Amino acid sequence: MKKIAIYGKGGIGKSTTVSNLSAALSHLGYKVMQVGCDPKADSTKNLMKGAFIPTVLNVLRDQGDDIGLEDIVFKGYNDVLCVEAGGPTPGIGCAGRGIITAFEKLEELEAFEEYQPDIVIYDVLGDVVCGGFAMPIRNQYANEVYIVTSGEMMSMYAASNISRAVMQFKSRGYAELKGLILNAKNVENESALVDKLCEEIDTNVFHYIPRNPLVQEAENSGKTVIEAFEDSEMAQIYMDLAKKIMEG
Ligand code: ATP
Ligand code: MG
Repeated sequence: MKKIAIYGKGGIGKSTTVSNLSAALSHLGYKVMQVGCDPKADSTKNLMKGAFIPTVLNVLRDQGDDIGLEDIVFKGYNDVLCVEAGGPTPGIGCAGRGIITAFEKLEELEAFEEYQPDIVIYDVLGDVVCGGFAMPIRNQYANEVYIVTSGEMMSMYAASNISRAVMQFKSRGYAELKGLILNAKNVENESALVDKLCEEIDTNVFHYIPRNPLVQEAENSGKTVIEAFEDSEMAQIYMDLAKKIMEG
């Protein structure tokens, strides 16, 4: 089972990239589990016809500790398995806590043994990787990390921080940074700026995703590009990402 985590600044396009990646992997015949690690709990909505699934934290809060996998794992588009960790009410409590609780629950209920996914993808909100947000890059969870960035200063700043955190964990045998996913915002000299960042943090642009209005169009109907515009060039770009990730 391959286990990857996708990090990046808020709003940079993590969930879009991850859900298209999951859909693409499912088209390649892989069994995929996508775990949203963001209190907003909207990571998987484009795999669920635009609907929000119950979060692990909310289900635990409402039903108590005695829950089953069927309460927290939902089959989305093309049988992609969808989980949302959830989190506390914004402004109250530690958002990372939701991730830790969700991971412990999935493990306790033997989710991976039960579903046997070929790949688990964690979609993690986190500019600075601390506490719960570092959970996915601990060895037993994800062992490969990709960071989504554009050429915008703040997203590159976040990417740099995240890469530094991954490096620190690496010496302890945790996850490895496989590269940046450049989700273009079409800022001036974007590729050159991101290339320079790569030099500074000793990594590479693993994949380039152009900006494309089909993303929003698909999203408006609660779908990924893979589902809504399967034959488009943009869908092919996500398919290529999926193939590259599985090739390692
Ligand atoms: P958050 O940190 O809030 O969870 P995120 O990093 O998951 O945000 P998304 O929700 O995936 O970001 O994307 C933010 C917006 O950017 C969405 O409306 C999405 O449609 C748009 N978007 C993402 N990637 C692209 C792209 N390549 N082309 C066009 N629009 C895009
Ligand atoms: Mg998101």
